[in-house]
Amino acid sequence: MLATQLDIPLTVVAHGDSGVKATRQAVLDAEGPVLVVLLRQDAGDSLLLGLLTDLEQALAGSLPWDKVPQFTLLTARDLPALSWVAAKACLSLEPAERKRLVHLLPDKHHCASRELELSVSTGPVVAQRTVDGVAVPSTLLQYAQAVAVQTHGSDACARGGDGAVLCGLHGHGAASRLDRPGALACGQGLPCPRGPRPTPLSQSQADLLMVTSCNGLRLLDSNTQPDFNLGLAFLEGSGRAYVASVTSGMGTDATTAAFLAALASGRTLAEATMILNAFITCAGVDQPTYIAVGHPDHCVSAPHTSDGDLPCWLSPGVEETGRDITIFGNDRHFVEFRIDNPAMLDMLENGRLGLAVDPAVPAPNPSRFWFARAEGSQNDGRRSARGFAYSFPHPLGELTLHGRDVDEAVYALDGALTRSTRWRDLWAQCQEGASAVPDLIGAVDDIVAESRAEALRMLPSLRYDIDAWPIIDTLVSRIHDAGSTIRRALMDDLLPQLAGSFYLTNVLIGEYAYAGATGCACLYCGRLASRKRFTHPLRHEVRFVEICPRCGIVTDRPHDPALAISIEAPELVARGDTIDAEVCTAGGHVGDGLVGVRLSTHGLTDLPPTPELAVLADTTTTTTAFSIPVSQALPPHEYSLKALAADDTGLAFAHKLIWVR
Ligand SMILES: [Zn+2]
Ligand SMILES: [Zn+2]
Repeated sequence: MLATQLDIPLTVVAHGDSGVKATRQAVLDAEGPVLVVLLRQDAGDSLLLGLLTDLEQALAGSLPWDKVPQFTLLTARDLPALSWVAAKACLSLEPAERKRLVHLLPDKHHCASRELELSVSTGPVVAQRTVDGVAVPSTLLQYAQAVAVQTHGSDACARGGDGAVLCGLHGHGAASRLDRPGALACGQGLPCPRGPRPTPLSQSQADLLMVTSCNGLRLLDSNTQPDFNLGLAFLEGSGRAYVASVTSGMGTDATTAAFLAALASGRTLAEATMILNAFITCAGVDQPTYIAVGHPDHCVSAPHTSDGDLPCWLSPGVEETGRDITIFGNDRHFVEFRIDNPAMLDMLENGRLGLAVDPAVPAPNPSRFWFARAEGSQNDGRRSARGFAYSFPHPLGELTLHGRDVDEAVYALDGALTRSTRWRDLWAQCQEGASAVPDLIGAVDDIVAESRAEALRMLPSLRYDIDAWPIIDTLVSRIHDAGSTIRRALMDDLLPQLAGSFYLTNVLIGEYAYAGATGCACLYCGRLASRKRFTHPLRHEVRFVEICPRCGIVTDRPHDPALAISIEAPELVARGDTIDAEVCTAGGHVGDGLVGVRLSTHGLTDLPPTPELAVLADTTTTTTAFSIPVSQALPPHEYSLKALAADDTGLAFAHKLIWVR
């Protein structure tokens, strides 16, 4: 009767394994979406997971997008219940001037609500609010064309926010048996341990309910008895369509938004569910786990009229030039685009492609996501990928997306962390004799720890969250700046010590192991000197310490990566004169380094030079001039100039003898 009423061809399959096989094959072979009608007792995991496995393989393969299988179920607890669900599928929806789609995010104390109202006359209207207390159950059960609840839960019971509980108890009372596993408190009229406010899904007024949580749609193989089931309870009421995960699934904003945005753009229940699973698969978030119950053509919003006239699948208002994709999304929530830039396609294939807004400014309402699926070569032999950008509840608007490499973000984060750790370690090593600045270091440690944790949490979303990029960029530069702060504090601390007996080698030698020596010419006197090699056991960093029998320690510098340092100055100066010294630094990693020099007077006096500290230009080789006053009070004697440079490589030290007459 249902097939006749809906005017769709009918295939009847047997119970059991052969029926599962035949159903999976029928879904794969069908030209369009397939409606699988069955009782709960026939909807075992072998069928549900089998259908999802077929979908996963189809998405990973080279099938054209419109050949990727689409299906929905029509199911219920028993035949009378199935008749009710089938009857609702046959009734056409009453036309509504306004269509509402609601994304609910319950937590312990509230239920946040993101609402989109679509109206032909006014265009999309967005509202966001938070409810709590007794307002939560009515919010969960409200009338809307689509309600999606992104929460934590299981087969028959899920968090509704502030003590409210989405309850999947059979609307007509329970016949559950306590002497078997699978009965819940609500079936006995007892309070639910999840919370004091049971919210029976059978009373929901929504046309379509999505539950983004674990195990929102469990059928034959549910761990609860048949009287307890979120999806079946919802379908017992006036609800027509239900979408949830058949296993533990990742329920993120991007997952829920993919489904709601697709519905808002006029996609059918079957296609929006396929899109949801495609997002999960293509964005590398998880396996497909979502299944819909309801008429496959169930629609929330009319398709955008212009879409029908398109000669190809590319949505209007999308332009791609090189790595930039400009989307004139206007009031749309879901648009398609094409990627045919070879570099971007390679990154997509390797799971490294990210798309960021350009310029990278954080969005006021960040809920913009994308995913793409590589398609086989076109007729002209060129590769391409079909991309989807979406947003909910706000429309996409106009945005330029710029291709970014996820691995580069990982390297940048790793580099910033390594750098801040290096300066933190150097700070600790130089602590002896240095005046401690514990407040500063504690604050910097907190910044690094928080930023690191947040960045690690965000890394996976770089592959699909447009608005994650400016956040990760900020976190990386915050960690980088933390390293710079310690480096600056360390230089401020060490430079005055150069006037005394400070030798960097004495500080660092404790953590480095001697690893051989070679002969070299002394930078200053040209005599045969010794270049000793030291290695750090953990960081695999190498330092060179050059020692001249006549001049003493000439330099102590990082070698791999390298930062060279030397001092240019006369060997003999008169009291009352000024030493014109030049410190030369060279290395591929100079960045925004710092350099300073001091006349070591054996601790007699500190004669600060001009400038006291200089910033290294961002070039490989830099010469920095310093002038140092030689006090009249300084006795004629042997002294030395000591220089210290700090860049991303670490600390480099130079020492040059000077005689005062
Ligand atoms: Zn319960
Ligand atoms: Zn020498």
